Amino acid sequence: MSQTAEPGRLVDRFGRPFRDLRISVTDRCNFRCTYCMPREAFGPGFQFLPRSEILSYEEITRLVRLFGAEGLAKIRLTGGDPTLRHDLPTLVEMLRAAAPEADIALTTNGSRLLELAQPLADAGLDRITVSLDAVDDAIFRAMNDVEFPVARVLDGIEAAAAAGLGPVKINAVVQKGVNDHTVVETARYFQGSGHIVRFIEFMDVGTTNGWRLDEVISGDAIVERVGEALPLEAMAPLYEGEVAKRWRYADGSGELGVITSVTQPFCGECTRARLSADGKLYTCLFAASGRDLREPLRSGVSDAELSDLIREVWSAREDRYSELRSSATEGLPKVEMSYIGG
Ligand code: SAM
Ligand code: SF4
Ligand code: SF4
Repeated sequence: MSQTAEPGRLVDRFGRPFRDLRISVTDRCNFRCTYCMPREAFGPGFQFLPRSEILSYEEITRLVRLFGAEGLAKIRLTGGDPTLRHDLPTLVEMLRAAAPEADIALTTNGSRLLELAQPLADAGLDRITVSLDAVDDAIFRAMNDVEFPVARVLDGIEAAAAAGLGPVKINAVVQKGVNDHTVVETARYFQGSGHIVRFIEFMDVGTTNGWRLDEVISGDAIVERVGEALPLEAMAPLYEGEVAKRWRYADGSGELGVITSVTQPFCGECTRARLSADGKLYTCLFAASGRDLREPLRSGVSDAELSDLIREVWSAREDRYSELRSSATEGLPKVEMSYIGG
């Protein structure tokens, strides 16, 4: 594992610099995707975080300002579904002011984009990723376990592009026997639209989604399947540490990506930290626990003390779960993706 870091920069035990912060602004979601928040585990009795335990916009913004001094270049708002949090554009506006140079992105299921895309863009959001696993209504509803028409998500994607938040990235989790037979249809639907589909290998996040390795379709197999119908050419990565492997259509009608977290892990280039909605700092998607920043935030510690905490957590980091994934990692405790933020 190797990373080249500039002198004086905050790096972890493997020399990986800190660059990206994913902020979960809520653990709630209006979808019940079977691979993320299965209804059996996240039913009506599920205890979501009470309002008092969730970081306020002021608290999030203060942390972002401090992370800014440690090399923060990219912020991604996520959840749960971030669009469920009241008045999200106000948070974007506050973050824009606190981190003027940072790239600010949002990942959403797209259900509320039709009304929110323009206010988010006006507030200073740079980019949007919409999760959409199938363009076929029946498969979409089965995988996302919602009574929500796929057409509304598609309208949301167009609204995001019209608001200047494009190219819109469209994330599709691929699960064997569930939607793997639709990858060509999904790719074809968005070919030539200017949006970029990224197929994601089904991951063993959390402990409730019943993950099995034999339900994973590898990125290579997805590219092969799409490429047979729509010829593809490999593209060079845009920057070091880019998560998606990029392909372009040979006829020049756009590009697609695959995110191969399971079959070709990219821990060596992982520069991401995650802040949960209740203020815990995690240094890996598969971590069992995070460092609480809310208590110090609320007990009146100084900025300098908070920065020391952040530096301490990142410098001690030695996570590389996806590289170690094996029978030995199978039973390990992990937080749910809807809590930590994808
Ligand atoms: N609700 C928003 C959404 O769905 O875009 C943001 C949060 S969601 C947890 C972030 C991303 O994680 C989504 O693109 C989703 O498809 C992905 N995801 C969730 N569970 C996954 C799993 N088991 N394997 C791969 N990706 C997963
Ligand atoms: Fe909600 Fe996103 Fe998880 Fe689906 S993937 S249940 S939309 S948080
Ligand atoms: Fe980063 Fe952890 Fe994913 Fe590896 S497994 S890429 S360290 S989040």
